[in-house]
Amino acid sequence: MALIVQKFGGTSVGSIDRIKNVANIVRKSREMGHRIVVVVSAMSGETDRLVRLAQEISPEPNERELDMLLSSGERVTSALLAIALNEIDIPARSMTGRQVGIRTDNVHTRARIESISADRLLETLEGGFIPIVAGFQGISSEENVTTLGRGGSDTTAVALAVAVKADRCDIYTDVLGVYTADPNLVPKARKLDWVSYEEMLEMASLGAKVLQTRSVEFAMKYKMPVRVRSTFSEDPGTLVTEEEKRMEHIVVSGITLDRNQAKITVQDVPDKPGLAARLFETISNQSIIVDMIVQNVGQDGLTDISFTVPRSDARKAERLATTVATEIGAGEVRIKDDIVKISIVGVGMRSHSGVAAQMFSALAREGINILMISTSEIKISCLIDEKYSDLSIKSLHAEFRLDTKGDGS
Ligand code: ASP
Ligand code: MG
Repeated sequence: MALIVQKFGGTSVGSIDRIKNVANIVRKSREMGHRIVVVVSAMSGETDRLVRLAQEISPEPNERELDMLLSSGERVTSALLAIALNEIDIPARSMTGRQVGIRTDNVHTRARIESISADRLLETLEGGFIPIVAGFQGISSEENVTTLGRGGSDTTAVALAVAVKADRCDIYTDVLGVYTADPNLVPKARKLDWVSYEEMLEMASLGAKVLQTRSVEFAMKYKMPVRVRSTFSEDPGTLVTEEEKRMEHIVVSGITLDRNQAKITVQDVPDKPGLAARLFETISNQSIIVDMIVQNVGQDGLTDISFTVPRSDARKAERLATTVATEIGAGEVRIKDDIVKISIVGVGMRSHSGVAAQMFSALAREGINILMISTSEIKISCLIDEKYSDLSIKSLHAEFRLDTKGDGS
């Protein structure tokens, strides 16, 4: 008998019929003898709808009020699912983030969990009830309702699993699991049976939408096994867990394409200490996240500095860079946003040499020019022209033998 946290995403609870379907999944797990804690998202589209309502009144709604508003979506689903379970004679109780003791910091709309007191949840379980927790929300030290950022119910689920010392956290969604690449872009993409926390973390932060990045960080920190699986299939999904020996021979596990990038170039920066610091300080002070950076040192004492930022921050970053460029006597600032970042991810890269060369050659063979490169221990990213998105992801998928099930090397 296991203690399992089951989280159901927006599509899984998107209608009354689907909520009844989820009640049946919960019932079956219970009949198998498991103890279950459920976490739910808002019905699909609901959070967006609530955001739009607020924006009809104000372009920048007060964030405390926004959190109060947005947290209601998950409360609705939790109560409806509890009603559905009660209707099939299974005792269940809906609970808010506050009721299960999720304490967060005071940063509205993207709060971080600080502590969880599992007592109330465990009492509810002991009393024979299945707790149905409204995901995505907590309570701050000032007793205000907070939300955990878009996709935050994943983090609620993993954090609760850690708090109650669950055996596993199952994330039920509308895809079969984690794929080698987005199946909408690569028809030959395959579902992975297994992926390590580190790879999942890279993939999530590179734009794979299956799990909120924070939830993967939590799972990795506390070694909580997470299973990503579909509500609409018996397929066992993808297990996200610690790296295992048997995976060592797989070099590349997944490929991601990030379309949310813009490149900014500051030309003719005097080649002197402190100027790059000044530029990037100005940008980071505005909470803009810089990803890739390249500096070309010229011979005339001038350099070009290029960097990438999220597309939504591009205009702001360009403005800031222009101000700094004028102050330090640099040249023109250029912006290019018809670019994408393609990345290959795999823990096997640690023990294999030549992976970068293989990636660059594969791109070169297709005549794809690389604008910037960045690497980590288990990831290589290349910035390329947007028009090559499709070609690059398909050719790399084939190059690293992800099209066929095998060892991928
Ligand atoms: N309902 C929230 C959102 O749409 C949280 C979640 O679904 O995880 O982002
Ligand atoms: Mg989600």
